[in-house]
Amino acid sequence: QAKALGKARYEVFNRDMHTRALTRLQLENDLRRAIERQEFMVFYQPIICLSTGLISSLEALVRWKHPQRGLVRPDHFIPIAETTGLIIPLGLWVLEQSCLQLKSWQEQALQRQEVFDISISVNLSVKQFSQPGLIEYIDQILARVDLDSKILKLEITESAIMDNPKLASELFEQLKLRKIQLSLDDFGTGYSSLSYLHQFPLDILKIDRSFISNLDSLEKNLEVVQAILNLAHHLGMSVVAEGIETQEQLSLLRLLGCELGQGYLFAQPLDAESMETLLLSHPQW
Ligand code: C2E
Ligand code: MG
Ligand code: MG
Ligand code: MG
Repeated sequence: QAKALGKARYEVFNRDMHTRALTRLQLENDLRRAIERQEFMVFYQPIICLSTGLISSLEALVRWKHPQRGLVRPDHFIPIAETTGLIIPLGLWVLEQSCLQLKSWQEQALQRQEVFDISISVNLSVKQFSQPGLIEYIDQILARVDLDSKILKLEITESAIMDNPKLASELFEQLKLRKIQLSLDDFGTGYSSLSYLHQFPLDILKIDRSFISNLDSLEKNLEVVQAILNLAHHLGMSVVAEGIETQEQLSLLRLLGCELGQGYLFAQPLDAESMETLLLSHPQW
């Protein structure tokens, strides 16, 4: 009987694996066509300056409107896009799309004679980071959109640096020449090899939301968060706390001297239209 049960379990397991492989294969196929079919959308989530309560930057977060599956989250398709190389065209599309959108918001504000100093933050995957000609592509997009490069922030992860530190150095040098700012995303989840931090011209460090997300974990991680803040400030970097969901977390992070924050407490990632409405309301937290 135990054996039969074991076999049944094995089959369930097997079927499950099979289904997952099939889903992945289907997603992979659909992904190839999704760019041409214009199924991707860029959502925007504000990053708030904690001392003024005003929006400092908007992070571009890609969404896939799958014709059958509905909205697919990036965690489900970015890894597939990475292994298939589709991340290269997709990443450039996201970059251009978000630059165009920011330009449009800049111009609208200009027409209303309002000050608009919000920057755009775009995620770069490991694969994109080692894409030949990346700098030239960025130059072309900025020129086409006629956007000041100072307004662009690129978010990279520790692995993008650690996988090829030499390439990272060369790219960073080029980006610095253009005054493009660099954010280190999801800090604390990767290698967290502290020795490399001061070797690279990083402007912003984003503390991963696993340290912040619920007050419980923030309180538990208080010393760690404080230490990360001290380290970053010592190295001349600003810090974004990701995943702020409650007023308590916000108050605590303000007390700790964290300068920037992002999370559902302020806003979820919004489509361009909803973000435009939010911007027009001049929010201050
Ligand atoms: P990320 O760059 O760390 O982006 C932040 C993620 O945290 C987003 O998930 C955002 O929706 C989520 N988030 C923000 N505030 C909160 C909060 O208060 N609570 C919780 N629980 N979550 C919060 P999203 O949009 O699902 O994106 C997941 C990841 O996919 C991103 O993590 C990024 O690594 C990747 N990604 C998204 N868009 C792009 C893209 O255009 N290119 C590349 N290469 N990667 C992207
Ligand atoms: Mg990011
Ligand atoms: Mg992050
Ligand atoms: Mg992340």
